[in-house]
Parts: sequence; structure tokens; C-alpha cells
Amino acid sequence: MEFLDTLQNKTLRSIAEKVCNNVPVSKEDALYMLTTDDILDLGAIANHIRTRLHGDIAYYGVNMNLNYTNICELRCPLCAYSCDENDENAFLLSLDEIDRRIRKAVLMGIDEVHIVGGLHPDLGIDYFEQMLRRIKKIKPDIHIVGFTAVEYDYFAKKNKIPLEDVFKRLMDAGVEALPGGGAEIFSPRVRDIIAPKKISGSKWLSVMRTAHKMGLKTNATLLYNHLETPVDIVDHLLQIRDLQDETGGFKTFVPLQFHGENTKIDARRETTGYDDIRLYAASRIFLHNVPHLKALWMYLGDKMAQVLLRFGVDDIGATYHNEKVVHAAGAQTPDFGSEPFLRRLIHEAQLIPERTTASYPNVSAHLKEDVV
Ligand code: SF4
Repeated sequence: MEFLDTLQNKTLRSIAEKVCNNVPVSKEDALYMLTTDDILDLGAIANHIRTRLHGDIAYYGVNMNLNYTNICELRCPLCAYSCDENDENAFLLSLDEIDRRIRKAVLMGIDEVHIVGGLHPDLGIDYFEQMLRRIKKIKPDIHIVGFTAVEYDYFAKKNKIPLEDVFKRLMDAGVEALPGGGAEIFSPRVRDIIAPKKISGSKWLSVMRTAHKMGLKTNATLLYNHLETPVDIVDHLLQIRDLQDETGGFKTFVPLQFHGENTKIDARRETTGYDDIRLYAASRIFLHNVPHLKALWMYLGDKMAQVLLRFGVDDIGATYHNEKVVHAAGAQTPDFGSEPFLRRLIHEAQLIPERTTASYPNVSAHLKEDVV
């Protein structure tokens, strides 16, 4: 219990005692953590959990992003990426073009492809089945992380088939995990402003419940730095924790910093280091039952993502060759990070880099991955 003695802040010390005794921390604790200025004590607790779960290992991936279309029926106010069908920048990738891009990325050594796109009214489910089969034909062991809960719900409605059948068909064609996007913030008050036509938070959770029941592991995301309050964030975290208690299907929690450029929503302001640290560390401590916490360097910048490795984060994201979505909203990071660059970020945080995919198949056996 040595680390408890290092904590000066009484409230954080009582939170740490719960952590040491495997007692889930409360909503009030989460609110405190999201607003405290005592980031060093907060970070000590988050790092304690991170080390208990993952030792000195930090993960990264070598992947590509495949954004197959930016044409989307919903045109959410928060989105800088989507277009109408006749817009100048609108695109829809043909299966041959996807084939070409995957072959090129495979030559560069990727392990995983991460597929998301807009809700295109003319695409039947066979487009996605063929896409996945062609990708698997190029590299049978490539790991496919495909489509958000919003896309699955849309595929079911458009094709008039049950959601379970959509999952089954796309799993048969090659999907192995879900990226977890589209959660945004569950608060109906905020969601009605930032993404009024998108499925509700409760529908997002219900699609994820179905995915987990079908055997798929998924991420869960949270979009922060727009119109949400700390109470909205706590409520979002709680709903994820509750579903995880029920299904155990979330592998990774991924907070996403909102970038407001080219959207109809103003970002609150540039986040400060304290804002990001509080959010990540509080998430690590509150979500005791979700094994991984990922800080996408592409959203946060490489320096902040690296620092967060000591504030609860165990995964720094991947190379993301050809990322389009966050860059459309003004992210200033490059759209590709090399493997040596990611390994260096981890090494210099005094951690051991381990290359992995979204399913973490290579997690070392001695590490306790499933519960805190
Ligand atoms: S956020 Fe997703 S669903 Fe909304 S407009 Fe953009 S691509 Fe479409």
C-alpha cells in the first residue's frame, strides 16, 4: 500500500483506498476527479491502476484508416467530414480503389484496417461484404475493425434486415472488432444539438450490447470539449461501466478531443494539459472494468499522448495511414505516424512498446487484462 502514503489530497486518498480495495468509485468521486487541480495525486492513482493492469508495457498499432465515403445522410452539426452527394468534395471509393489502397498499405506492413464512413443511401450490404472479402483475400490475417454502431443500425434499416443478421453477415465476411465511434456524448440535451439525427445514446448502447452478444469486442468512445458538462461526462462513463458489467465486451475506452474547425459547433476552447489529464486519469480510475485506455496521438498531439502514458493510458493509438475524419476538423497533427516514431514516444516514457491490434491478442500472459 506504499503508494497510498504518497497522496496528500484527502479526497483523492479516499478514492485510492477504494481502488486498492477493488471498490468501484462513485459518481461524486468522478465529478471531483474531473474538476480537481491536483493532477499529480490523480495521476498517481491512474498510473497505479495502469501498472497493475499492464506492467511496463504500452501498446501501439500499425494500421491504416479506410474511410470509404464522406457522403452522409445525417450531416451532423459536429461533423467536418461529411458531404452531400453532389458536393464538390464528395467521394465514394469503388471496390477496386479500396483494393488498390489496401495492397499498398499491406506492402508497408500493416496489421489492421480500421473502416468507417458516412451513411450513404445507395450502398447495399453486398458492397460491404465484397469490400471485406476482398481485403481478407489480399491478406487473410489482417485484423478488420469495422463500422460504428451508427453504421450498423443504418445498414439494418436500409437493407430491412435484423441487426443480428447484419453483424452475422459482416462477421462472416471478415469483421473482427468494432471501433466504438458514434457514442459522442449520451446526454440527450447535448446530443440534440451536436448530432440531432444520429441514433440516441441508449440506441448506441443497445447496438453495442448486440455486438457483444454476437462475440465481437469493441471500443467505446466519448467526444469531449464541446457543449458537455462534467455531469454529462460522468453519466456517459457510468452507462459504459454498467454495460460492461453486463457484457464484458468493451476492450478499450477512447476519449476523443473535439476539434471544431469546419463544423457547426464551437469547440469550448483549446483544451489545456490539465483538461486532458483530468479526463483521461478520471476515466482510467472510474472505468475499473474496461481493460485498456487509449490516447490517440493524432487527436491530442504526440507530446500530450506521451505524457498521458503516465496518467492511466496504456495505448497510444496507431500509425493511421491516411486518416481523414479528425483532419477535416482541423487537427494539426500529420496524417501518418511511423512505427519508430510511436516506439520512441513509448520508450521515452520509460515504458516497453508492444505492437498489437484492437483485440490485443498478444497481451503477455502475466498481465492481468480483464478486471482491475
Ligand atoms: S458524424 Fe458520422 S453520421 Fe454524422 S454526418 Fe458525420 S459521418 Fe455522418
